[in-house]
Amino acid sequence: MSASTKQSIANERRHKGVYDALVIGGGLVGSAIAFGLRQEVDHVAVLDEGDVAFRASRGNFGLVWVQSKGMGMPAYGHWTVSSQRLWSALAEKLEAITGLEVGLEQKGGLHAVLTEHEYESRVQFMNKLIEQPGMIHYQWKMLDRKELLDMVPGIGPEVLGASWTEIDGVANPLKMLRALHTAFDVQNVDYLPEHPVADIHFKNNIFEMDTPHGVVRAKKIVVASGLGNQVLGNQIGLSIPVRPQRGQIIVLERTKRMLQLPFATLRQMDEGTWLIGDSQEEAAYADGEVGLPILATLANRAVRTIPKLRDVRVVRSWSALRVMSKDGFPIYEESPRFPGAFVATCHSGVTLAAAHALRLAPMVVEGKLSEEMAPFSTRRFNVQATT
Ligand SMILES: Cc1cc2nc3c(=O)[nH]c(=O)nc-3n(C[C@H](O)[C@H](O)[C@H](O)COP(=O)(O)OP(=O)(O)OC[C@H]3O[C@@H](n4cnc5c(N)ncnc54)[C@H](O)[C@@H]3O)c2cc1C
Repeated sequence: MSASTKQSIANERRHKGVYDALVIGGGLVGSAIAFGLRQEVDHVAVLDEGDVAFRASRGNFGLVWVQSKGMGMPAYGHWTVSSQRLWSALAEKLEAITGLEVGLEQKGGLHAVLTEHEYESRVQFMNKLIEQPGMIHYQWKMLDRKELLDMVPGIGPEVLGASWTEIDGVANPLKMLRALHTAFDVQNVDYLPEHPVADIHFKNNIFEMDTPHGVVRAKKIVVASGLGNQVLGNQIGLSIPVRPQRGQIIVLERTKRMLQLPFATLRQMDEGTWLIGDSQEEAAYADGEVGLPILATLANRAVRTIPKLRDVRVVRSWSALRVMSKDGFPIYEESPRFPGAFVATCHSGVTLAAAHALRLAPMVVEGKLSEEMAPFSTRRFNVQATT
């Protein structure tokens, strides 16, 4: 019996009636929302394609990251910080329910600079970001080489410094996904793999999802199907402009813990494994290949940052597709044509997991997104440019 058959048997529908709430998409975004929904209502289901899917959730870097977020949309800065603040509450809740911890460390984060030009650009970027009207203020600092050496003793001679915030952090994304799915088991959320949704109908105030295993019904739905949102959004009357953006990551063997604070593109996990990441390449859907020139560039920068990595062996590398909206910011919206149907998509599903579970899900149950969510509507893509 294949692993996926075993999984589907283990995940049969337990609730036979109309679900209170249902999420389409069992990646990190959909799973975090479903977890949050279950804290509010009794009968929740998650429909997913299963292991055949192009998933961002299994290929990411695990940053719970604030610095750099919100340039051009201060509301995104606020939303990100609100999630960062709630992350420990989410981790504690998950651990209380499942007994699993998710490797959350929020001790600060660094963005390394290796040249004078990078140093100046970083200072300018961070100042511009924080000084935007309406932007949330948090403590950040440009560290010079000496200050950085005090924090990270092993940096290479080329490293001139880093931007630092005390509020950035990391989680272990695979542990996170596992904890969410274990919580589904414990709390009787019906996680249904191999249930790709082909069509969504709205009849008598109930949503009906057509799947190869029959129709599944719910009072409220959240379309959180990653790159699938473009197609499924149309079914609830919303045009969701998302595209795949490939990211590649290199995994190095486990060593004793040497790096306590994560860099934006280099971190050591709670269990000792190193991750070097992560490229940002415009990609076609089926184009998931890993390319040596890009990996070499990533590796080169990592070794220049921490020279000791030269002696640490590569275990594997992977690529995954980010879910990128037209302007890079998240999209959250309730369908004006089909009230009770919501869409959620973003490219920082780890960082935003706490906001999705503990803030967005209650709004879905209440049947209304709060005012602060207005900037994330797709209406922003339809604004006519003034000349
Ligand atoms: C290389 C890389 C590094 C990253 N690093 C970070 C990071 O450090 N921090 C961070 O916060 N984020 C990071 N991300 C982003 C993060 O991984 C994504 O935001 C997140 O995984 C997106 O999750 P998702 O659930 O929207 O999409 P996905 O993980 O793609 O999941 C979508 C799900 O929808 C399902 N689906 C699709 N169509 C249908 C359908 N018709 N019916 C039913 N189900 C359907 C699929 O089966 C799939 O399981 C990174 C991403 C990449 C690629």
